[in-house]
Amino acid sequence: MRKQNHPIFSAILLVFFTAASAADKTPAFTRADLAAAATLRERALSDSTPYQLVESLTTEVGPRPAGSSGDKAAVAWALREMKRLGFANVRTIEATVPHWVRGEAQFAVLAPFPQDMPTLALGGSVGTADEGIEADVVMVKDLAALAALPAGTVKDRIVFFTNRMARSQDGSGYVNAVPVRVQGASAAAALGASAIVIRSIGTSSGRFPHTGAMRYTATAPRIPAVAISNIDADALERQFASGKTVRVRLRSSSRDLPPALSANVVGEIPGTDRANEIVILGAHLDSWDPGVGAIDDGTGVAIMMGVANLIKGLDVKPRRTIRVVLFANEEFGTSGSQAYLAAHQADAASHVLGFEADFGTGPVWRLSSRVNPAQLPVVDEIYRALAPLKLARGGNEARGGADLDGWSKLGMPILEPGLDGTKYFDVHHTANDTMDQVDPQALRQAVAAFATSVWLGSQFSGSWERVTEAKPPRR
Ligand SMILES: [Zn+2]
Repeated sequence: MRKQNHPIFSAILLVFFTAASAADKTPAFTRADLAAAATLRERALSDSTPYQLVESLTTEVGPRPAGSSGDKAAVAWALREMKRLGFANVRTIEATVPHWVRGEAQFAVLAPFPQDMPTLALGGSVGTADEGIEADVVMVKDLAALAALPAGTVKDRIVFFTNRMARSQDGSGYVNAVPVRVQGASAAAALGASAIVIRSIGTSSGRFPHTGAMRYTATAPRIPAVAISNIDADALERQFASGKTVRVRLRSSSRDLPPALSANVVGEIPGTDRANEIVILGAHLDSWDPGVGAIDDGTGVAIMMGVANLIKGLDVKPRRTIRVVLFANEEFGTSGSQAYLAAHQADAASHVLGFEADFGTGPVWRLSSRVNPAQLPVVDEIYRALAPLKLARGGNEARGGADLDGWSKLGMPILEPGLDGTKYFDVHHTANDTMDQVDPQALRQAVAAFATSVWLGSQFSGSWERVTEAKPPRR
């Protein structure tokens, strides 16, 4: 009964608030705000600064996994570039980050048909002894299939997870597939397995494995975890189809070093009459190491710096303060965003609206939000200002990204110009995450969509209200 009544109740509320905002005659945005939004959109569509920023980051810094020398170089790069662009209050907020090193990994099928397959350790995995681990392989689809095996099936075996990630525009295929990568090793170890190999969590058709973070539980033994490409996973499945026992040898020299010091890098376009209210623009500075982090998350860094730079170039100043935060270590535990959150406990309430770009090169295909439902008409107005970009209208279940999770839990509203993820996972966390993957036109369109939304978010005549509904499920 309650469930049936709820949408009707929401609809009545919506009508009430729309009517109320119409009655008080205060428009959400002035004509000047909307004109500036159009100027930003037009300028973004011909602005080459964001593309040049990704070029600079990937060329001069390259791979920048947490704790590495590239990580330090990326922090220095971001400080330099924010100052060069004339951002205000450029500074760092230190973060302690894990320092895992990949080393080298080899994966060899010994029987029934011997051959080597390219492999990558999963981020955080322990290595093997020098001689490696040699064992028969048990093939399962996913975590549920592993849990359903008769007791003892995987004891002293290597578990091969075969589940294939589905391609999707909104990233839902990744969310469904990624638990195997994160939890697979401990789930298998708890049943006595000696290592795991997974079909890459990715949609590539090349022979490049996708790495990415995994996590050990406190109770299961720590066993090595590696990924092979989709193509080699298919080949390994064919070896099983022979009906013969599949035996492999796995070697990996990955290991943990002591935690290291890194930093979030912050820069601002100061606000005016509402300067104490912060619109936070998040992206992450770190990357995995096989590629150079061009689309994960060089383009996110470029979008957010590019947006702030365009707003800085307007004749008018924003009402609220626009704060770009380039987070340390998103990839391996989000310790950067946690450090930022901890540093801002006292003024958490001043963070009134958030944006995050961590989903590739663009284009933006829809506008979603997570705002107090009473303020959805404001999002509708922002959506109308984006009309020339021909976006879809998304729902009110936006998540932003991993670096805004803590803020989302505090009820901070989020606007999400949704980056198109259809091809993102073809190169995500692979050696192919390189500059050639950055589509200049898509990037300019993405900057246009973000710049319009960020600007209007900062100019809104009312106050952004906290979201009180339960957090939506992880996208
Ligand atoms: Zn990322």
